[in-house]
Amino acid sequence: MQIENHWLTQARPCPSPFFNERPSDEVSLLVIHNIALPPLTYGGNAIEQLFTGCLPLDNHPYFKTLEGVEVSAHLLIQRTGELVQFVAFDKRAWHAGVSNFAGRTQCNDFSIGIELEGSDNQPYTQLQYKQLVLVTKALIDHYPLLNKDRICGHDAIAPGRKTDPGRAFNWSGYKQSLQALLS
Ligand SMILES: [Zn+2]
Repeated sequence: MQIENHWLTQARPCPSPFFNERPSDEVSLLVIHNIALPPLTYGGNAIEQLFTGCLPLDNHPYFKTLEGVEVSAHLLIQRTGELVQFVAFDKRAWHAGVSNFAGRTQCNDFSIGIELEGSDNQPYTQLQYKQLVLVTKALIDHYPLLNKDRICGHDAIAPGRKTDPGRAFNWSGYKQSLQALLS
């Protein structure tokens, strides 16, 4: 995995309008999410459409609940392992919302958000874990304030409000694979 000008060269770029400048150049936290559109449904391009502001609201009743929603993440890892990048890592993507990490609020300011195509209670694919570990390693190598202890789920920074990446996410397996790559 390589990062050039804050874009992952192995990811397909799909630029989102939903980002802005970080208040400082600090990138010190990785936040892991899940998303499926409609819920529990995989494949298709609805996630890309949501993150670029062109979700066809008439295509599914659930989509209507997302009218006017402006959200993004830096990266999506699809079930197939394909990587899609929406926002440059040095910019502020809109993924965390109201959040708090170790006493600091506004986690979007200093974090990178990665979405796994998935759901809280359905196992993620091995291809996704493989890619996530490789991407995490590349990010830790590239952004000096990131490290293996500054990785969390959305649920950890927005408890009571968010549950992703959910019980299905294998934190110990992910951390072990990452550790093996870092050492
Ligand atoms: Zn989330």
